[in-house]
Amino acid sequence: MPSSFSVDVVIVGAGLGGLAAAIAITRAGHRVTIVERAPELGEVGAGIQVPPNSARILDRWGILSKLRITAMQPEHIAIRSYRDGSMLSLQKLRPLMDEIYGSPYLHVHRATFHKILCDEARRLGVEFQLGLTVTGVDFDKPAVKVHGHKDITAHFILGADGLKSACREALLGRPDPPHSSGDMAYRIVISTDAMKEHKWLVHLATTPAFNYWAGPGGHAVGYLIDGGARFNMVIAVVDDLPDDVYSAKGDLDEMHERFKNWDPEFRNMLRMVEETSVWRLQNSIEMESWIHPSGKFALLGDACHATLPYLAQGAAQAVEDGAMLGALFEKAENMSEIADALGIYERLRKPRTTRVVHESTEYRAIMHMHDGEEQRERDRLMTDLEPFEGYPNRWADPVFQKYLFGYDGDIVAAEAWNQYKAGKEQI
Ligand SMILES: Cc1cc2nc3c(=O)[nH]c(=O)nc-3n(C[C@H](O)[C@H](O)[C@H](O)COP(=O)(O)OP(=O)(O)OC[C@H]3O[C@@H](n4cnc5c(N)ncnc54)[C@H](O)[C@@H]3O)c2cc1C
Repeated sequence: MPSSFSVDVVIVGAGLGGLAAAIAITRAGHRVTIVERAPELGEVGAGIQVPPNSARILDRWGILSKLRITAMQPEHIAIRSYRDGSMLSLQKLRPLMDEIYGSPYLHVHRATFHKILCDEARRLGVEFQLGLTVTGVDFDKPAVKVHGHKDITAHFILGADGLKSACREALLGRPDPPHSSGDMAYRIVISTDAMKEHKWLVHLATTPAFNYWAGPGGHAVGYLIDGGARFNMVIAVVDDLPDDVYSAKGDLDEMHERFKNWDPEFRNMLRMVEETSVWRLQNSIEMESWIHPSGKFALLGDACHATLPYLAQGAAQAVEDGAMLGALFEKAENMSEIADALGIYERLRKPRTTRVVHESTEYRAIMHMHDGEEQRERDRLMTDLEPFEGYPNRWADPVFQKYLFGYDGDIVAAEAWNQYKAGKEQI
């Protein structure tokens, strides 16, 4: 039930996180304006994985069915050796994810996901102010400072402005540029019609799956998008971009040279690539706090917990942040309770996102091993044993999988709020 108490909220950034928060907070009965730097709404990149913990939220909002129209539902996660493509771990996803977690694992086009969120936000009455760059925050008013424009005031402000966040810097009171992770990624899209002309690739081009190749110093992920018309790939490798370059057109010869020792079939697939781009993978240093003591400002998404994308959870965590803010704002009955809701938000969300960031970084150490004894032991654990707690395929580890995919922020928020109302929650 939407709250009878209603506030004006300004959200900085119309990425997946800002849009999710806008939907959740509007559904909770508040008025939301999104201030976005880009002159037009959109999303960079091709594919994105939507795990069950994110799909569950979209389902509650009644928009999962729209995403499903072009989404692919992977049959399994197939982790292969880079060397010869041999299978190291084959983990069933469909229909298991629905059966265990009540929501699917999906592969979608980012632009489609983004548009569905934009359309839903608009339908709910969210106002968009595009082409405005936020340069800072006045926490006392509160208001956002906008380049070449008057300040925009509200009762409450949310910074969802991504990795290079002006809002984070305002909260910290100092510059805080993104930090290089040491890796970069090739982003690739291949037509499945071309893949179907090669015997071994027909399977990849026609079976919805989460394909993974574990290699020395890097890994590759590939899956179908756009109803199976295209194969999306992200290949993470050691970053050798010049210091001042964050993304660039990829050199195909260089790319082929880099993977010259990989499985011949994998290389065959790369031969079909007509163009690629490389992106430096960056993240941020963990913050002490995401909220301002005034109780009128908070951060969410990549602005406060940008992660390596190795568990495919960055956007899912941003959507979870937004949903939890909505769940708490629905319960708050005055500004003082909004301030307390923020304390609860941070207490509940920060440990989870911090764990996701750390586990994503640790996954690099697990999956980027160079040939040798440690790598052979990793492969033996995957090929010889059933998944157990600590299993190298982190999505198959039964304990960690439940932690990632079984999370229901609405339940967590309701329990915390009840405790708060009963005077037991420490803010
Ligand atoms: C290669 C790669 C693969 C990934 N794969 C997955 C995956 O499979 N699954 C998954 O869940 N996550 C994945 N992620 C992570 C995911 O893309 C991000 O975590 C997510 O998009 C973050 O959303 P956000 O809304 O917090 O930030 P952003 O998407 O960065 O949005 C920020 C918005 O704020 C705007 N903005 C910025 N500064 C200002 C300003 N000063 N004033 C006004 N507006 C501003 C920007 O224009 C933008 O619209 C991947 C990331 C990478 C790099």
